Amino acid sequence: SPFEYAPAPESRAVVDIAPNYGLFIDGEFTDAADGKVFKTVSPSTEEVLSEIARAGEADVDRAVAAARRAFGKWSALPGSERAKYLFRIARIVQERSRELAVLETLDNGKPIKETRDADLPLVAAHFFYYAGWADKLDHAGFGADPRPLGVAGQVIPWNFPLLMLAWKIAPALAAGNTVVLKPAETTPLSALFFADVCRQAGLPKGVVNILPGYGDAGAALVAHPDVDKVAFTGSTAVGKQIARTVAGTGKKLTLELGGKGANIVFDDAPIDQAVEGIVTGIFFNQGQVCCAGSRLLVQESIQDELLDALKRRLSTLRLGDPLDKNTDIGAINSAEQLARITALADQGEAEGAERWTAACELPGAGYWFAPTLFTNVTQAHTIARDEVFGPVLSVLTFRTPDEAVAKANNSQYGLSAGIWTEKGSRILAVANKLRAGVVWANTFNKFDPTSPFGGYKESGFGREGGRHGLEAYLDVR
Ligand code: NAD
Repeated sequence: SPFEYAPAPESRAVVDIAPNYGLFIDGEFTDAADGKVFKTVSPSTEEVLSEIARAGEADVDRAVAAARRAFGKWSALPGSERAKYLFRIARIVQERSRELAVLETLDNGKPIKETRDADLPLVAAHFFYYAGWADKLDHAGFGADPRPLGVAGQVIPWNFPLLMLAWKIAPALAAGNTVVLKPAETTPLSALFFADVCRQAGLPKGVVNILPGYGDAGAALVAHPDVDKVAFTGSTAVGKQIARTVAGTGKKLTLELGGKGANIVFDDAPIDQAVEGIVTGIFFNQGQVCCAGSRLLVQESIQDELLDALKRRLSTLRLGDPLDKNTDIGAINSAEQLARITALADQGEAEGAERWTAACELPGAGYWFAPTLFTNVTQAHTIARDEVFGPVLSVLTFRTPDEAVAKANNSQYGLSAGIWTEKGSRILAVANKLRAGVVWANTFNKFDPTSPFGGYKESGFGREGGRHGLEAYLDVR
């Protein structure tokens, strides 16, 4: 394998990237049946990182067949045996986390501080958590005879490549399913590294198959007649298409789609803490987060004070080389995503919202967008309604808690929300009225494998994480 195991070195050049990679089918790296390839580039330099085999329909057939063959033995293992593999995977991820963090940062553009301190620890935590469930399935109240669904077809986006893989693969394997996973076309590398982790863990062939490729491969996987369960994270548009494909087939489906999270700051909130939460809410991962707090709802009486403090804080953020440990804001994942963000921000300005940009120099090469605020935003503005999926915050105001709730809920989406106030009673009252799958109080973008995550409305359906995430891969008899 090009990703041979080596103890985590200290230098920045911690990971060897081979000039090319294959698909991972039935425990082996292999070329695509039609020989097609694509390139993955570093978004911070535009340098080509590697050439990757591009999966097509014939490869989907091969991978699903391998997963089907592996299913019989894998699902028949006692849960305690499956748990051993998952614990092993979790430990190997921890041991190789430096390499994985650097690889993820190179391929995605996000700051190493985030991959090191958030993505990688959460990936390991998910495997540990679901390893812990595997041997308890028979005795934890799932019903007399919980059964895996079969072959899971999983399609993931580029914003948290390895973490989305962990959210999908860990519960599927714990429950006894086998997996064919398609990573996003701009971030295939960490999933291929993970294939090597599976081999190192001695996972039986065919239990996990990884098919790098584009939307056509994702569509073929989702439509494949021998796939029993489809799990998708990505855009609402593609999610709706997948729901139509799956309708009437009997396949189980979970969808994690877009969001337009409201971060609600009341006048009694601790301002400094709220400013940090607002920054985390929208500038973590350059705002390319489905549950980002992209709408700031601030109580009118503290608007000026809060915005002054926020602008001061934003002026201290360091944008640049994502491999630099001090970097706060990395690169946007792709030229296409940068174009989308730029177009929506320009539209915000054209529709009359006031644009403020943190003063910072953008590197010459790569895809960059400076942290941006919009004030004088109304609910009719496109930037108040559409998901930007970038470092752009729209600021709206409210006078009363009821108005805050009404504005927060005035969205096609319902994934996340935040509440900032000293009053516990207000937290509970407001949280109960918010139509969002995740509500944070006096914090934002905190994740934990024990906690179910998912959306209302057009943010999707089904939950990942926690016991609910496991149930999405089980039938009970
Ligand atoms: P996307 O939905 O186009 O892609 C997500 C994944 O689906 C990728 O692996 C892609 O190859 C695959 N895919 C594309 N078309 C498919 C099809 N017809 N059938 C099956 N799979 C298909 O999302 P994107 O281009 O990566 O990003 C576009 C927008 O999606 C973003 O601007 C954002 O709004 C949203 N998004 C949301 C999340 C989230 O976590 N909810 C993550 C990434 C992107």
